[in-house]
Amino acid sequence: MIFKPENSVIQQITLPNKDVELFIKREDKIHEFVSGNKYRKLKYNLLEAKTRGFKTLLTFGGAYSNHIAAVASAGLGFQFKTIGVIRGEELESEISNNHTLRFAKQNGMQFKFVSREVYRNKTSESFINELKNEFGDFYLIPEGGTNALAVRGCEEILVDINGRYDYVCCAVGTGGTISGLINCSKLRQQVLGFPALKGGFLQQDISNFVEQTNWELITDYHFRGYAKVNEGLIKFINQFKKEHGIPLDPVYTGKMMFGIFDLIQKNYFPEGSKILAIHTGGLQGIKGMNAKLVKRNLPIII
Ligand SMILES: *Cc1c(COP(=O)(O)O)cnc(C)c1O
Repeated sequence: MIFKPENSVIQQITLPNKDVELFIKREDKIHEFVSGNKYRKLKYNLLEAKTRGFKTLLTFGGAYSNHIAAVASAGLGFQFKTIGVIRGEELESEISNNHTLRFAKQNGMQFKFVSREVYRNKTSESFINELKNEFGDFYLIPEGGTNALAVRGCEEILVDINGRYDYVCCAVGTGGTISGLINCSKLRQQVLGFPALKGGFLQQDISNFVEQTNWELITDYHFRGYAKVNEGLIKFINQFKKEHGIPLDPVYTGKMMFGIFDLIQKNYFPEGSKILAIHTGGLQGIKGMNAKLVKRNLPIII
């Protein structure tokens, strides 16, 4: 299995008549399925699991989870058995209609579908022990892949020369990626996180992994919640691809970029600012989202 972190180049996004400069770092180019931040987050966890002699990886996720797709693909590539604990019992009969689950299954992932109530215990010791009784010993990767080793991997997203950007922006799910970015940012830089979901827990979760305070969460662009979209967002994603040739995903990077464009419009960034947006990948989720959009009679992502 070959990852290409060297493919993660920085491209400028041309903005008409604006007095700020916008760039995007193409982490989505690292691997087709273990894309963007999921490669960064898994890197040291996979090494740790191998070193400690584990044969099985177990993790948690929802029906469209980029993390589930990434763990399944990386597990196959590095000879781990993989188990996905999936939120929603009703999905058991939907595997063949769900792009992400079908992909994960084709990559050898075994599923355990649980109700939303049971899923809430995903960090409880008794539930983990139950899972060990059922599946044998495994290396546990938390939901979204965020732990200290994941943060360490994300600290490799920025290198010294990236210190010339005034702002570094990323989408936020569980907060592992932004934590790594904060840890490798210069103090004179400002790291802006765009949460893809509602919820006040993120501020605390991130604080547990970082010491620097040069960061902020911009909470106005979650579009009413995780994986929720509207027509305006879909049109923006399609327009962005048409103009700049870069695909964005509807759950994370589309919302972040929508937010950055809106903030530029509102003169949030001082004149002359250099802004670096991180393309964290997630493009595998487009097919699943399009299937939902068709059902709702909304335009699809091109
Ligand atoms: C998982 C994911 C995120 C969120 O990363 P966290 O480390 O959980 O905050 C952001 N963007 C994309 C494309 C993702 O797949």
